Amino acid sequence: MKTLDIVIPFYNEEDCIEELFKRLLDVRKDLAVEGLETNFIFVNDGSVDGSSIIVENLARANKFIKLVNFSRNFGHEIAVTAGLDYSNGDYTAIIDSDLQDPPELLIEMYKKLKEGDYQVAYGKRLKRKSETAFKKVTAFIFYRLLNSLCETKLPTDTGDFRIITASVRESVKQLREHHRFMRGLLTWVGFKSVPVYYNRDERIAGTTKYSPLSLIKLALTAITELSTTPLKLIWWLAGIMALLSIIMIVLGKNLYSVILFAGFVPTFALGLTTAYIGRIYDETRNRPLYIVDKTFNLD
Ligand code: UDP
Ligand code: MG
Repeated sequence: MKTLDIVIPFYNEEDCIEELFKRLLDVRKDLAVEGLETNFIFVNDGSVDGSSIIVENLARANKFIKLVNFSRNFGHEIAVTAGLDYSNGDYTAIIDSDLQDPPELLIEMYKKLKEGDYQVAYGKRLKRKSETAFKKVTAFIFYRLLNSLCETKLPTDTGDFRIITASVRESVKQLREHHRFMRGLLTWVGFKSVPVYYNRDERIAGTTKYSPLSLIKLALTAITELSTTPLKLIWWLAGIMALLSIIMIVLGKNLYSVILFAGFVPTFALGLTTAYIGRIYDETRNRPLYIVDKTFNLD
């Protein structure tokens, strides 16, 4: 029998966990009909409410429920990372614990993967019920800005909610950078992906764990994880200064030309320095140079 591990990070979600568990249990039954054995890997990201006790009791009663308890709050991205590390099934799913991602969609995702043409089935949001206009607008701008800056193109309106095959999971496990944006890493490794559309529900209880400030931090992590393009903007600045300096000479305004040239020299030096910094950054992350999907006659 093939196996699926559902990774569920949670942080202070005591009012969501029981309802989530109920719905996941129904999904587990439906997936069994599809010939799949499902485990739940809960990752407690340093909760200080009763959620960990609830999951602990569930885990005591059911062997298919696994629990990883962090020593403190390490953040959502790290919690998902740990879930993938502990997963060893044929498939791995990632889902939020506040029921914003409908667990029932996992069945449709699995059916897409089962056909064998794809290695990733990801949830793509159609509508976001009751999220603030601010969140919707910033999310809209964020995805488009990210894709214009970065070589790795993220699918728009997509979160971590997805099922991946073991080969995708093992590839992502090789990426050990500390500042992590999982969606970026999951996309960077490649493989064939297929969207499954859904309307994003409201949180069933509690409040979002992301403040506007932590969303800005996450956006910065995403951009720096996927691209060194912002560093290259310095070259543009140097280029514009050099060009303006020449134009000023042509116009006979020598003083302006000297001032602009005086600005150009350090900017150029900075551009050169950051070119090396960008390379140091790429090397220290120690990412694999390539990810292999399949080989033939090589094992
Ligand atoms: N979460 C986590 N650690 C954190 C923050 C959030 O494990 O430090 C979990 C949270 O319990 C939820 C998921 O990550 O299951 C998404 O968080 P949230 O719903 O607050 O984010 P939003 O949906 O508002 O973007
Ligand atoms: Mg949420």
